[in-house]
Amino acid sequence: MNFEEASSHINSVFAQVSILAKDLFGVDISKTEIIVSDSKSLSPGTAYSLRPNHRIRFRIGLLLASRIAGFTEYKSYSRDPRIGSFATTDKREWLVALVCHEAAHIINYELKRLKIPVPGFSQAAVAKANHSPIFRHIYKKIRIVMIPRETTYYEGNIYLDATPVRKKVVAYADFPEKGTMVEIHGKKYEVVLFKPRNYKYPFIAVNGNKRYKLLRKTVEAAMK
Ligand SMILES: [Zn+2]
Repeated sequence: MNFEEASSHINSVFAQVSILAKDLFGVDISKTEIIVSDSKSLSPGTAYSLRPNHRIRFRIGLLLASRIAGFTEYKSYSRDPRIGSFATTDKREWLVALVCHEAAHIINYELKRLKIPVPGFSQAAVAKANHSPIFRHIYKKIRIVMIPRETTYYEGNIYLDATPVRKKVVAYADFPEKGTMVEIHGKKYEVVLFKPRNYKYPFIAVNGNKRYKLLRKTVEAAMK
């Protein structure tokens, strides 16, 4: 899959999700601005709440440059068979999940802005941002249509062939503990910091005088 194919896939999946948004939640998200870049950021999608419309940025450089093993969701609902992390080597399917996730944020913004009632949720609950229960409810409703199967939980991280993904990011077999030594480009470094600030793409800083962000890679892949 090249950049153009991925970009058109994202737009066509988003168009389908827009129809679902109308049918299931009564909101029009079709005017959302979709920006796709080949940035190799570890954060592949961001949804922005803007007026009058919204925006999603997709950064797919790393996806295109790597083999993948799975799609990784946030820890709080990672094991959910409908919206959790799952094993896949199919980049198109991976993008479907990502589009559903980001679109769910946009739908949530619209439900909040228009104060549209959602059965089972108070207005205060609908107004909650981030990955709260309302977000998961929306995400689930659209992901089970777009990926109509129970997904198989997959714990590893997503990118396998991304070493180095950029100057200061290296893939590593698994999260090393603080104080252990890891080898990067033939040199040994002590792990000094573990920052699971963002579960989806956690990183670890490693000391020499240099600091490296570490991208987790599965043990199996590392042994190949
Ligand atoms: Zn999100």
